[in-house]
Amino acid sequence: MSDEITPLEVALEQLDLAAEVLDLESEIHAFLKEPKRTLTVSIPVKMDDGGIQVFWGCRVQHIDARGPFKGGIRYHPCVDLGEVTALAMWMTWKCAVVDIPYGGAKGGVCCNPKTMSQTELEHLTRRYTNMLLDFIGPKRDVPAPDVYTDSQTMAWIMDTYSRFKGYSIPECVTGKPVILGGLEGRTEATSRGVIISVREALKRLGMKMKNATVVIQGFGNVGYHAAKIAAEMGAKIIGVSDSKSGIFDPTGLNPQQVLQHKKVEGSVSGFKRAKREITNTELLELDCDILIPAALENQITQSNAENIKAKIIGEGANGPTTPKADEILTEKGVFLIPDILANAGGVTASYFEWMQNLTREQLTLPEVNQKLQRIMTRAFADVYNLMTEKETSMRTAALLLGVGRNAEAMRLLGLWP
Ligand code: NAD
Repeated sequence: MSDEITPLEVALEQLDLAAEVLDLESEIHAFLKEPKRTLTVSIPVKMDDGGIQVFWGCRVQHIDARGPFKGGIRYHPCVDLGEVTALAMWMTWKCAVVDIPYGGAKGGVCCNPKTMSQTELEHLTRRYTNMLLDFIGPKRDVPAPDVYTDSQTMAWIMDTYSRFKGYSIPECVTGKPVILGGLEGRTEATSRGVIISVREALKRLGMKMKNATVVIQGFGNVGYHAAKIAAEMGAKIIGVSDSKSGIFDPTGLNPQQVLQHKKVEGSVSGFKRAKREITNTELLELDCDILIPAALENQITQSNAENIKAKIIGEGANGPTTPKADEILTEKGVFLIPDILANAGGVTASYFEWMQNLTREQLTLPEVNQKLQRIMTRAFADVYNLMTEKETSMRTAALLLGVGRNAEAMRLLGLWP
């Protein structure tokens, strides 16, 4: 399904496009193309069978002109340096789009968490944290969850970091369990942000969430919560999928029941109340109002973009659409809410969590949701207004904001010495 373009090539192509429209100085453009720091590590892990396995990992810190580095950690068998660099770059733009004081980073470990025990994952996480010790920290670089990492992973990072420093430092990581200083509503914040931005798009198009048909690719943290929140707002979830397969039901799927099934069976596949099973390829091309890719990169490409029937695409995942597919979708009049806007609710809530830990003042769930709503609605309006003003796409408008704000920060900071 690929355009044979890597996530890093996509990210660099997007940067070039923004640089051209912004008429960016070549020095700043060159600076933004490369991460400020890249650390690769070999992580030895004691496995349950007594043997030792060595895993490759990295942390990429892109730009910190607007504040400390911030970004998730991904555990996946296909993680590589190019992908993590692209994800770090997108974090830089994303934080600027929602105007929170962070730079962009990302981490990854090449492993298959599905075949590893909790003990092995704990050993891996603690050793990886230990190897990043001098590069992360509350004022330096603050990790968070991403694909196949969760609040438990963050708890291990917090504990390892704190043990080495000698005292408890909850602000070294976000996405922690609430009892350890985590934020009420952080787990579903990315999805809440996706649905807020979809609702803003619906308003602009004169459509309503009630009875809108929704298709979601990926039924993990982002996908499941997006389904749940959209269903609570009256939308009909007609298709969902995961890495194994997809299910379809035009009368609407109940997200909680599908999740229960997935917990027992390990996949959405085989859910008895669905009308039929479908492939991921079919799922993306279903006739629907809203399509939410919430899995991995490069899912909507030039080979399937023409067949997409959704009126709105809300990118829960990072980098799900290639530049060639972008062109086709724009031509078709699809309203696409780009990743660096649509899924920015996660890092926004992480910012609330970090602030909460620094001040030791706990926010309530209504406070979190209200603040999230305010920031996401404002960011959507900023991007939408710029899109209208420049007569461009939502993607380009978001890139202009993200890249432009970082370039401005770099100009003001100047270059030392
Ligand atoms: P997750 O590990 O909880 O879920 C990933 C889901 O994708 C799983 O259901 C998995 O089965 C499915 N999947 C994997 N490969 C697939 C494929 N080829 N086809 C269909 N489904 C597939 O991860 P998540 O945290 O929900 O992250 C999903 C996406 O959202 C990623 O792109 C991530 O970078 C992005 N994102 C996550 C957050 C966050 O707060 N977790 C924030 C911003 C963006």
